[in-house]
Amino acid sequence: MVARSATQLAALSSVAVVVIWLYGAAATTFAADTDQPKGASAEADASNADRAPSAPERKYTTETIQGRVVWLEDALDRGFGVATEPAAAQTSVVVETADGQIWPVVPDTRGRAFAVDERLRGIDVRLLVRRYADAPLVQVIRVFRSSDEGLQEVDYWCDICAIPMYILKPCECCQGPTRLRERPAENVPPGL
Ligand SMILES: [Zn+2]
Repeated sequence: MVARSATQLAALSSVAVVVIWLYGAAATTFAADTDQPKGASAEADASNADRAPSAPERKYTTETIQGRVVWLEDALDRGFGVATEPAAAQTSVVVETADGQIWPVVPDTRGRAFAVDERLRGIDVRLLVRRYADAPLVQVIRVFRSSDEGLQEVDYWCDICAIPMYILKPCECCQGPTRLRERPAENVPPGL
């Protein structure tokens, strides 16, 4: 039998809980995703109608948040003087705000994108997020960053198939390369 530390077990069980909790939310998000950005009002009006039947109804608010997405262990060390187990390094990311708050990021496709692509970490970003009642995490809905040309929306794009993706990976259609895309933001949510 493989021995596991209490820390590892705790981490695994936490991940399992989050994954189960996320199932319905992720399904809702992906079903609603299109290339055309949706306004904040549309996001706020999204219903829980297509959630998994077993998932409880959860209220959420759609908010904007500004900061930098960084590894959890770096934020804890830098901001709180808390050391973490090396085995847990580079598994979770948080939004670190200018006033020193940290918000764990739901590791769905858009949230995991910050772990997969180092270009997204440690830079000033503006995020449209959902906050669910009773869950101390933020779920990333849209990613923006400020530039000399104004606010840009960030995602990934296949030039062959002309389809967007929300995490760095081969194109879902042609399996070819995708590129990080920044384009002038449209339908910018209030507060950004
Ligand atoms: Zn493609």
